[in-house]
Amino acid sequence: MSENKNEMSEEEYLRRHLSEVESSKQFNSDIPFGNAEPIVEKSSDLHYFSYDVHELPCGRFYPTGTLLQVRAAQVREIQAYSMVDDNNFYDIVEKMNSMLQSCVRVKYPEGKVGSYLEVKDQDRLFLIFLIRELTFQQGNSLSVKVPCKACSTENQLELKRSCFDYYDIDEKLDKFFHPNTSSYKFRLKNGREYEVTPPNIGLQKAFTDYIIKENQEKRTPNLSFLKIIPFLLAGRTSITYDGIKAKLAEFEQMDDISFQFLNSAIGKMSFGIKELKSTCECGEEVRTEMQFPNGASGIFVIHDAFEAYIKE
Ligand SMILES: [Zn+2]
Repeated sequence: MSENKNEMSEEEYLRRHLSEVESSKQFNSDIPFGNAEPIVEKSSDLHYFSYDVHELPCGRFYPTGTLLQVRAAQVREIQAYSMVDDNNFYDIVEKMNSMLQSCVRVKYPEGKVGSYLEVKDQDRLFLIFLIRELTFQQGNSLSVKVPCKACSTENQLELKRSCFDYYDIDEKLDKFFHPNTSSYKFRLKNGREYEVTPPNIGLQKAFTDYIIKENQEKRTPNLSFLKIIPFLLAGRTSITYDGIKAKLAEFEQMDDISFQFLNSAIGKMSFGIKELKSTCECGEEVRTEMQFPNGASGIFVIHDAFEAYIKE
């Protein structure tokens, strides 16, 4: 299925999208809410903005010249997202994925268009906040209050690109990076070779389904396996349940050196947003850890909308 998406031309993609918009309009044509004018879908709502993939935390792991096309969230997408369970990690990831499914596509240099399933898993949050920036262009800022250590002024650190500080990529990895495959290739002293690249969302979803199934059937998933194996499946956007089982059997037979090496190498592969940072008016740098003020739902649900929008 993901391969079909891969083949889908930009035109087809847009046509499919527009037909979805059409069907949602029919749904609207019944009784209008309040005294509102019928809502006309503005063409600008579907306007995609292009970003060079190198702006993303995992940018180097996409083919050179790839663009990420991103648009603002529409009301129905925010409505769906608003039901996120802030205490359920899987639900947060799933709702974020649905948002990316609607608002993000990957355009490869040769013109092929891919879906959110081909987005690197560790780019998810960055893109969610990019969609947020595009959606709330007239304010509605989301920020964390952080006192300056030097002058104790309270700084507002906004959750947006200009305040994000990312995990550094360990320099030791650099010389093993192959730009032609957008992955690392490691040759070990035991003669083994491994290609390593951060998994995309499609692959990570398959592993999430696997974890859920194992939990339901009262089996404890092998956490070490789940940490390492998704990084060893370069070029794939999915894997079946049986495929994962086969990989698990291989993993359990792995030699000591390979395991120790991979565990260490993948331990160095944290990408994405690490902290928020800004400069205080006194010149001192202000930092705090990455967090969601008002929970994950607060990214698209306006916290004080009642006060903000009631007319008194
Ligand atoms: Zn200060």
